[in-house]
Order: sequence, then C-alpha cells, then structure tokens
Amino acid sequence: MTLDRDALFIGGTWARPATDAVLEVVSPHTEEVVARVPEGSTADIDAAVAAARTAFDEGPWPRMSPAERIEVVQNLSGLYAAKLDEMARIISTEMGSPISFSSLAQAPAPWMQIEAFLAIAREFPWEATRPGALGSDVVVRHEPVGVVAAIPPWNVPQFTILSKVVPALLAGCTVVVKPAPETPLDAYLLAELLVEAGVPEGVVSIVAGGREVGEHLVRHPGVDKVAFTGSTAAGRKIGAICGEQLKRVSLELGGKSAAIILDDADEATAIEGLKFLGVMNSGQACVAQTRVLVSRERHDAFAAALATAIGAMVVGDPLDPATEIGPMVARRQQERVASYIRIGQEEGAQLLTGGEGRPDGLDHGWYVRPTVFAGVDNKMRIAQEEIFGPVLSVIPYDDVADAVRIANDSEYGLAGTVWTADQEAGLEVARGVRTGTYGINTYTMDFAAPFGGFKASGLGREFGPEGLAQYTEAKSVYLSAPPM
Ligand code: NAD
Repeated sequence: MTLDRDALFIGGTWARPATDAVLEVVSPHTEEVVARVPEGSTADIDAAVAAARTAFDEGPWPRMSPAERIEVVQNLSGLYAAKLDEMARIISTEMGSPISFSSLAQAPAPWMQIEAFLAIAREFPWEATRPGALGSDVVVRHEPVGVVAAIPPWNVPQFTILSKVVPALLAGCTVVVKPAPETPLDAYLLAELLVEAGVPEGVVSIVAGGREVGEHLVRHPGVDKVAFTGSTAAGRKIGAICGEQLKRVSLELGGKSAAIILDDADEATAIEGLKFLGVMNSGQACVAQTRVLVSRERHDAFAAALATAIGAMVVGDPLDPATEIGPMVARRQQERVASYIRIGQEEGAQLLTGGEGRPDGLDHGWYVRPTVFAGVDNKMRIAQEEIFGPVLSVIPYDDVADAVRIANDSEYGLAGTVWTADQEAGLEVARGVRTGTYGINTYTMDFAAPFGGFKASGLGREFGPEGLAQYTEAKSVYLSAPPM
C-alpha cells in the first residue's frame, strides 16, 4: 500500500497544494524514501487559517452545545480505536519508533487522551452561576478561545496533535495543525477519521511543513492561540512572538529529568523501570529519565548493573517486535547524539557501555549505541543539555538533600522519579523537586491530571480540566446591579 499523498487537508476537504513542493518521508531504518506528500507553503497556511477563521466566526461548531460537540468527539474515539494497529505501523515507519513502543504508547495513548477529555468535558463548568461578592449572581462562561495553531514535534507526533486538537474541539475552537516535516503521514490518517466522525467543514486543517511555515502560522493575525510542543529554543521564539501579539500560548518543551534512587530502593525494580523510562522511544522522549542519581555508596554497583541492562537491549529494525531501541529520526539526530557521547568522554565521564559508532550488525540506518556514563558531574554538558537519544548519566549524591539539589540544578523542570520502598520518603522528595510531573517507583502520564513544565520546560498545562481550560476564555456576565 502506498503512503504517497497528493493533497492537503484544508478546511476539512482535500485541497490542491498551492505549490509543487514535496516532502520526502525517509525511513530511519532503510534510509530510503517511503512516501512523498505535499509540503505546505505559507499560501496553504493562509488558506487553512481563512477556513478556520470563517468556521469560527460564522460556522456551527463554536455555537453547538458542549453535548453536541462531545457526540462528534465520541464518534472520533470509536473510529480511532479501530485504527490503532495501522496508526502504530505508520508512526514506526515514518520516524523509527520501535513497534513495541508504538503499539504500547504512540498509537493508543492518543485514544486514551480522547476518552479522558470526553469524561472531563462532560463535567466541565462550561457555564455556571455563582453568588457574586456584591450581592448579585454572576454567570461565568467558558467560551472557546478561537482559532488555534497546533504545532507538534516528530517524536510523539499523533500524541502531541491530539493533546491539542481534542480539547480545542471540545471547547468549540477551530484548528490549523502543522505537523513536523519528518512525520506528516500519521496526520493524514487522523484527517480521514475527523471527516468520518462528522467534524464540520473548516474546523480542522492539517498542513505539514518546516519551521518557516510554522512561524508564519504562529504570526498569522487570524490565529488566537498557539499550542506548541517542541524544543525549548523554538518555544522561546514562539513565546516571544505571542507575547508581542498578546496571543494565548501554551508551550510543552524539553526536559532533563532526574531519577533519584534512594538507598532503600530495590535495585532490580529500579533498573527494570529505567530500561523503559530512561530510553523509551529510543531516548527521543521529553520525559525520559536521563539523569540517574545514586548515593556515593551504591553508585558503582548500580551503574554497572544499569550498564549491563541497557547494553543488552535489542537495537534494530523498528518494525521488528523484538526491537527495544530503534534508529534516531534523522541523520542529523544520529550525529547530534554521537557528538554528545564524544563530549561526555572529553568531559571525563566514565563510559560503561555504548560509545560512538554504529551498533554491531547494523550497516544502514541512523542508529546509535545505547550508552551509559557513570561518575558524571551534574555540571557537565551531558547532564545539563537535552541529548534526545539513548544516553544515560549516572550521577553520585551525598545525601537525599543533595540529590534533590542536583535534580533541581537544571534549566528544565518537566518530570522526575524517585525509587524507594518508603512512599512517604518518596512524597517528600517529590515535594522538593521543581517539575510539573513526578512518579514514585514509576512514571506515567495520567490524562485526568495536568501535564507540563516548570522553568524552561514550558508554559501552561495539557490534560486534565486544567488542559481543557487552556482552550477557553472566561467571561463573567453580571446579572443585575448590586443593591446599593
Ligand atoms: P523543534 O522545536 O525543532 O520542532 C517542533 C515543531 O515546531 C516542528 O513541527 C517544527 O517544524 C516547528 N517549529 C520549529 N521552529 C519553529 C518556529 N520558530 N516557529 C514555528 N514552528 C516551529 O523540536 P523537535 O526537534 O521536532 O522535537 C524535539 C523536542 O520536543 C525536544 O526538545 C523534546 O523535549 C520536545 N518535546 C516536548 C514534549 C513535552 O510535552 N514537553 C513532548 C515531546 C517533545
């Protein structure tokens, strides 16, 4: 089956692109072109924003009741659930995520988001009357924020599209999505499902393209809110533009999360956990636990055991169910990760497993060797900068207060974990670490709860009622003059 496409999804219909520019989607495993799709241009973005604007200002969607919109999103949920295998395969093909991870997370987590947002929307206070402080009642309405620009990255493409499109739809917004140029294919499947679900014309457009096209969308005067997931560097730029224009903006950015191993932690449990949480999605995950903090006494033994576990992981073809670590998304990402492995050695960190160069037996594909450094100083670049590959740094700490200090010695504040037999001790550590999410002996995203970053990891929250609220404007209607 060909994955090629010749149209763009603009205003809810399949439209001819404004230019002949083509995006070649290249398999990170074979390094061969697997699909050709139109590359969106600024003219295509203009057409998409115009459609979204008209649908918002004049169309039925923002004027429907929340219950009516919930019904359409409920249709989407059913249709999406029937496509999980196809979605997982497309994502692994376009960006190299191991199919085990795509089947576990890339494809089903977006469906779980839809279900969680549906439950939240049913209970959300769209319009509520409260007693005012001046003696009369006030009606507080949550109205749709308007036309939303949704900009996802390539690493969890469908996850980060639906984390924006679903709350936007439920709130009554219209949306223009700009997928990353590496991952346009999963968005085509979503577009088909949106049509089938009965989302009205103009409400969603999807135009894949590069940075310039993305920035054109961010600056567009027809856009009311920007919802972005991606690098901190791009987030700063987008935040600055939105600040200038006073556009609403939410930013989900990078991370450098610390896993704190307390002395009472069970080593086997912590290592099994880190085998997944440290290098999930081949290390291309914003919430990856890439700094592993271990007490000085346990450091050497723990680091050695971790290196044995990570070094034994199966690296290879993303479509092979046995694969645990796939290729990097692009050659530039492979080179970037390899350069950090070099930097770590130059900085004096102790290389326990992995290193520069290709994994054995793989003569093509953008692979790197899963790598563990020990004896890392938190000031080193490999401990401070987001590598976005399967590279872990084991860092010794003196006592628990020192571990918390090291965890917080980061410009990021996205996620973190603590591993301990004592939940109270874990909660105490969680209170001290300045991140938006935290896990005790686990890490997960629960879509009923808010997710987002402290510090340079972002602005605003996705998921939970807090995430839905980001697609609304609060309006207060005073019902009568206060008694004087
Ligand atoms: P990136 O910032 O390069 O690109 C992300 C998206 O933004 C792409 O669609 C890109 O085309 C677009 N873009 C880039 N510059 C832009 C600009 N100036 N204006 C408008 N659009 C622009 O990031 P990436 O390399 O695709 O993704 C990896 C990054 O994403 C990592 O830093 C990772 O931590 C982060 N991420 C964060 C989360 C989260 O929820 N916090 C989730 C996944 C990924």
